[in-house]
Amino acid sequence: MRVLITGGAGFLGSHLCDRFLAEGHTVIAMDNLITGKTANIEHLAGHERFLFIKHDVTNYIYVEGPLDAVLHFASPASPIDYLELPIPTLKVGALGTHKALGLAKAKGARFLLASTSEVYGDPLIHPQTEDYWGNVNPIGPRGVYDEAKRFAEALTMAYHRYHQVDTRIVRIFNTYGPRMRLEDGRVVPNFIAQALRGEPLTVYGDGSQTRSFCYVSDLVQGIYHLLLSNEVEPVNIGNPVEMTILDFAKTIVELTGSQSEIVFVRPTDMRIKDDPKVRQPDISKARRILNWKPKVSLHAGLKETITYFKPRV
Ligand code: UDP
Repeated sequence: MRVLITGGAGFLGSHLCDRFLAEGHTVIAMDNLITGKTANIEHLAGHERFLFIKHDVTNYIYVEGPLDAVLHFASPASPIDYLELPIPTLKVGALGTHKALGLAKAKGARFLLASTSEVYGDPLIHPQTEDYWGNVNPIGPRGVYDEAKRFAEALTMAYHRYHQVDTRIVRIFNTYGPRMRLEDGRVVPNFIAQALRGEPLTVYGDGSQTRSFCYVSDLVQGIYHLLLSNEVEPVNIGNPVEMTILDFAKTIVELTGSQSEIVFVRPTDMRIKDDPKVRQPDISKARRILNWKPKVSLHAGLKETITYFKPRV
């Protein structure tokens, strides 16, 4: 296949580039580098089946030659990004999805949308199944991401139904691993950096909120299988092992061998407004349709991630 990956220099996008190249495909990575980094793909420079194009996909996308698949992964993806880049976040989810779908339609390519567990908002159904419609605050700080992704799902289904574009939608739950941005403000890089520096780990609120963390290679495997499947409706991909953020902080202290203490803070900015209280994917559909389940334990995945961050803190 000849595949376009938008957001190809980002955390997930760059791992997808690696996977598609390893499977023998040709990869065009596109990124405007506002949150993506060339360091994530510099090992691919000179690869005969790899091309990087610096471009903002909210503008018309031009790609020469045929395409078999378009994977739309471009977007800021952390709560502090949404605060700092609210309009680019809305634009890439809305206008960027429109451009990427238009390209897929013109090329007769399959389209895969990177959607998110954030479409479920602060969920009232737990764990979250794909048929849950969600509980999202449209005007809160996270609304710029959540609503853009909800619009992106609606647009993807409209292109499927009206234009017969062959589409897939993956709802991605919290994913971690090498190439996350140290400064992106999410809990995994924050806690690891704090632990490695011997600084206090900052648990927001009382730490009773839960998340379920998936290692990046498991996520990539699920996405690869989804692209090759026939499933048009959204599929959750994530690791269902759920834990509180306080327990997660304790795990990071233990795995880093850090002397750091754990402190409870309540940021005065908008960072924890509308923070989902619980989140856990129901992955029955992915298990059934894709024969997929995560394989990497939290300890093994975190060890790899800590090794990646150690020389960078
Ligand atoms: N969190 C925290 N301390 C931090 C960063 C995040 O306690 O330094 C919490 C945050 O309030 C949320 C959870 O960790 O409940 C996951 O936050 P993250 O920003 O990683 O992503 P989210 O799942 O909220 O999109």
